[in-house]
Amino acid sequence: MISVKNISKTYNNKKVLDKIDLEINQGEIVSIVGPSGAGKTTLLNIISTLDKPDVDTLSKVMIDNIDVTNLNDSKLSKFRNTQIGFIFQFHELLPEFSAIENVIIPAIIKGENKESSIKKAMEILDSLGLSRVVNQQPSQLSGGEQQRVAVARALINDPKIIFADEPSGNLDSKSSELLHKLFFDLRKKHNITFVIVTHNKDLSNMTDRKLNLVDGKWA
Ligand code: ADP
Repeated sequence: MISVKNISKTYNNKKVLDKIDLEINQGEIVSIVGPSGAGKTTLLNIISTLDKPDVDTLSKVMIDNIDVTNLNDSKLSKFRNTQIGFIFQFHELLPEFSAIENVIIPAIIKGENKESSIKKAMEILDSLGLSRVVNQQPSQLSGGEQQRVAVARALINDPKIIFADEPSGNLDSKSSELLHKLFFDLRKKHNITFVIVTHNKDLSNMTDRKLNLVDGKWA
């Protein structure tokens, strides 16, 4: 599903990632762990197409058999919008929009009709136990609810992969547990692949594979 070869990244003459290889199967839930500054977010951003690796003829990021390092900006935006879901530490919901409006944004960008997007968003929010809060703004929701709305937004275009960067980093332990369980339920239901950067040991211990990054290399 994901095949990463020979990925390096240099900032200010400092090698932050050093020739990273990685293979991930469809439906796998993989965690990337390691000390702060090890390069985890940089690696996740490169695999998830948000950032580019150093130029190197041997480096490659393949997702679903597509070489994403070779896509131009507009193709890449479309690829992200239709194939990938993102979950960040701070939900990144738009504060002036309601929960359901936030959830339908990627569907509207994709070109879906508004009514069918709302219907689908309602179903997803309902399945995540959020039907009561669909019309509330993010500031009126608890941290756990905000993050589940962000998950609903990540799901609206039926992604094959979800990338998450410290998804429970800002949540209390009960909300974290609920969120972690949700990832595994989603894998079971939709065979979604998850790549998760996390410091949360409960989460990394649940994942199929725990990959330890230290100083830009697999440890
Ligand atoms: P981690 O996620 O493991 O904490 P990061 O990938 O965020 O590590 O960062 C790895 C290293 O790269 C750090 O030393 C960080 O300061 C540096 N770094 C990350 N992004 C940038 C950037 N945009 N410009 C310069 N240095 C960066």
